[in-house]
Amino acid sequence: MIILDGKKISNDIKDEIAAEVKKMKDKGEKVPHLAAIIVGNDGASLTYVGSKVKACERVGFESTLVQMSNTTSDVELLDKIQELNEDPEIDGFIVQLPLPPQINEQKVLLAVDPNKDVDGFHPTNFGKMALDMSTFIPATPFGILELLDRYGVETKGKHTVVIGRSHIVGRPMSILMGRKGFPGNSTVTLTHSHTKNITQITSQADIIISALGVPDFLKAEMVKDDAVIIDVGITRVPDETKPRGYRIVGDVDFANVCKKASYITPVPGGVGPMTIAMLLKNTLLARERHML
Ligand code: NAP
Repeated sequence: MIILDGKKISNDIKDEIAAEVKKMKDKGEKVPHLAAIIVGNDGASLTYVGSKVKACERVGFESTLVQMSNTTSDVELLDKIQELNEDPEIDGFIVQLPLPPQINEQKVLLAVDPNKDVDGFHPTNFGKMALDMSTFIPATPFGILELLDRYGVETKGKHTVVIGRSHIVGRPMSILMGRKGFPGNSTVTLTHSHTKNITQITSQADIIISALGVPDFLKAEMVKDDAVIIDVGITRVPDETKPRGYRIVGDVDFANVCKKASYITPVPGGVGPMTIAMLLKNTLLARERHML
């Protein structure tokens, strides 16, 4: 069994990006600038955004954090998005999800300039991805592709089962694994909460990508020998023995599934750090596009 070490690979990617940024600086060029908008005080969202800002510092990007109150209206948020769309200093930006209930998420995603949409959530970018065109691939699926690529995990002709069909992970992942190319060329089954006999389906999978957010959902008896297991799930489970009062748990019963798997991602230290690295990669791409 081989651990797909997202922490290590993400550090490699950050080193590569930092080297690119250094070249830009040496040539006197403007370095990439990522902005993040966060609305409200959700603890997990603040942690994620904080990690993104820190990652920018690590690779030498400029970063801007825009914090808006929990009572922000649709109009106020759309105005701020317009401002970032028009700001030539900003190469790419993200709007941290989830948003408070008074805000229409679809309107917000549509308002982001597709050329600055480094999350890859705008329908234009999602459509380009589905049509095999060059675009921003959503960071989590992009990170999974990169892990499979760097470990040389064969995907051609394999049966990939994706659990979860969210717009940010499961759905794009199912499209990407079925694309022509590497990683890709898989035969994909996309499962969700209405899927019947899920054990029968997962136990036929060569590759399982689990993105549902239910701790320890995927048990050893749902997995065939030598399967590749990608665990996207991140759930905070209360744990008084931890300094923060919780621990992070994935979707996979790691202790038992790892005995059958050929490759497996740990939680934490698997897909999570890759997501941030690929957001940086998309921002670098946005910077390079603006220079054309
Ligand atoms: P989401 O929007 O809540 O979607 C969950 C999906 O799982 C839905 O499609 C749902 O089906 C499906 N599902 C729920 N229960 C199921 C069951 N019993 N059997 C089969 N499918 C089931 O979640 P998300 O945003 O994709 O996130 C999923 C998990 O990944 C969460 O733990 C999240 O924190 C984590 N995550 C991690 C990263 C990272 O960087 N590692 C990034 C993003 C998300 P329906 O469509 O039928 O409701």
